[in-house]
Amino acid sequence: MYIESVELKNFRNYNRLSISFDRETNIFFGDNAQGKTNILEAIYVCGTTKSHRSACDSELIRFGEDEAHIRMHVSKDGVPHKIDMHLKKNKAKGAAIDGMPIRKASELFGLIKLVLFSPEDLNIIKSGPRERRRFMDSQLCQLDRLYFSRLSDYNKILMQRNKLLKDLAFQPSLEPTLDVWDEQLLRYGIPIIRQREQFIGELNETVREIHSQLTCGKEEIRLFYEPDSGPDYFSERLKQNREKDLKCRTSSEGPHRDDFRVEINQVDIRHFGSQGQQRSAALSLKLSEIYLIRQKTGEMPVLLLDDVLSELDSSRQKMLLQNMNHVQTFITCTGVDELVGNHFPMNRVFYVENGS
Ligand code: ATP
Ligand code: MG
Repeated sequence: MYIESVELKNFRNYNRLSISFDRETNIFFGDNAQGKTNILEAIYVCGTTKSHRSACDSELIRFGEDEAHIRMHVSKDGVPHKIDMHLKKNKAKGAAIDGMPIRKASELFGLIKLVLFSPEDLNIIKSGPRERRRFMDSQLCQLDRLYFSRLSDYNKILMQRNKLLKDLAFQPSLEPTLDVWDEQLLRYGIPIIRQREQFIGELNETVREIHSQLTCGKEEIRLFYEPDSGPDYFSERLKQNREKDLKCRTSSEGPHRDDFRVEINQVDIRHFGSQGQQRSAALSLKLSEIYLIRQKTGEMPVLLLDDVLSELDSSRQKMLLQNMNHVQTFITCTGVDELVGNHFPMNRVFYVENGS
């Protein structure tokens, strides 16, 4: 599967843009704030319906305009497809595949798989649990459409439960209705925990091999889902924390608070890892995503590398390069000298200046 071309209309700082891509490495270079990341963001939005850096769709629309449009031509198993994404101010976005409107974002996940790697991902180990949950969820959503809808349902129920916990301050007589929300939370939460645990288990195998290569066999990496009490214990956790939830007026237990631990040679590197160890582990995790997607779907995902090359030393760049074989890759950077020096493949190179 690969992306043939992208057309943008009023997206971020682009008025109009139409470009076609190489099937292997595509480089976007130019000064800061010219629109390099915006192109990667457009691809990501078109493939997942969500931006990786902005929660609000209207931020994606060019200043002073009311609508933006992204069109992407992709080729999957030799068959061409067209994805259209229409963003409107203060309205829900619309998307269509081959001219047919889609109702659920998950329909897009079946068509295109993306792995995005930005400098913030290098901090995934030392950041808080939210970033690690985002990492698990973004992969699982692409691998399983059911997961995506389960997660949305879970989040809706969580919001209702939290609202009730707040309302109870004024209407304590409503407390018995909390049981109904707990039941729903368990109904959607337990399968989420189960899938995440399985995902971490599968990732473990791949990441161990990659990390061992990256560190010349010096480091053994292992991942553990937290809490490790298992999905069936979620009900117990909810019960135990009922008093605390009532006091704090928020839900303190559940997949929305879970995490995963990263150990290197049996040390928890979230807290005790050196900066270099944390970054190498992050790179190994990201590379593992590529293989897990291939293993699960039989397809190579498209790789989006936003500004990460300059953050990696040459041995890590080399490692990345080895893993990019036959993967369509989009790279942003401010200059190409280093890439030329490191014999990086550059099949197509775009110079980006002020939104063109
Ligand atoms: P860097 O090298 O610093 O990462 P970049 O080339 O990746 O830079 P982008 O993030 O792609 O930069 O683009 C940033 C530019 O887009 C900024 O000049 C910003 O003001 C502009 N921009 C962002 N959102 C919008 C918008 N909605 N409308 C118009 N311009 C926008
Ligand atoms: Mg950028």
